[in-house]
Amino acid sequence: KNWPEIKGNITFRNVSFSYISEEPILKDFNLEVKAGETIALVGETGSGKSTIVNLACRFYEPTKGEILIDGVNYRERSQLWLQSNLGYVLQSPHLFSGTIKENIQYGRLDANEMDIIRAAKLVNAHDFIMKLEKGYDSEVGEGGGLLSSGEKQLISFARAVLANPKIFVLDEATSSIDTETEQMIQKAISRILKGRTSFIIAHRLSTIRSADRILVIRKGRIEEAGNHLQL
Ligand code: ATP
Ligand code: MG
Repeated sequence: KNWPEIKGNITFRNVSFSYISEEPILKDFNLEVKAGETIALVGETGSGKSTIVNLACRFYEPTKGEILIDGVNYRERSQLWLQSNLGYVLQSPHLFSGTIKENIQYGRLDANEMDIIRAAKLVNAHDFIMKLEKGYDSEVGEGGGLLSSGEKQLISFARAVLANPKIFVLDEATSSIDTETEQMIQKAISRILKGRTSFIIAHRLSTIRSADRILVIRKGRIEEAGNHLQL
């Protein structure tokens, strides 16, 4: 089926969500994000930031309420429609056993080696990859186990850049990323945000500062919102 092209407007309308049959993590959550807007989510651990972006990515669906993409409940579209327009770097990035090259290429079977290297350079992953004995042909191991958590995020970042998505999600790992890697990620972020709807969960003020809107999340609710000058 030929679905319309995604523009990237995302609306949470009265969304409630619980993982199991527990107390809901989100209750009547409302948010309207315009195409091209960068939203930063901040808030203490367990406040629901990752849950919000996981719902936006449709890794989970609302228990109540709905999530609209360009005005249409995403349940009325195929998973593939959203997934093919979505790039994400998750808190625990998912790599499959295979080479670095394969992990960056992922679904983009039309991408050639030059495209892959260009994406890796853009997120500053190229240098660490070239230091590995087999470079882009190095095996990442089961679940990416042969790489550090920061390196996994960079590979996953390169994959997102290569996919050239309309919607971009970055859920930065909390710890275990060294300052150098974090600075590389930071530089890459500013390049990738342009022209995309983005959700950024980051720990550096400098990253958050560039967002159009910062949402302070507390217990699954938006406690405050504004840009960095307002907050
Ligand atoms: P952090 O800053 O530590 O990443 P967060 O703001 O991203 O925190 P979430 O991961 O969204 O918080 O978690 C919100 C709540 O949902 C927490 O109470 C957490 O324990 C719970 N939770 C998160 N993931 C799951 C899951 N897969 N199954 C059950 N409960 C979960
Ligand atoms: Mg989280």
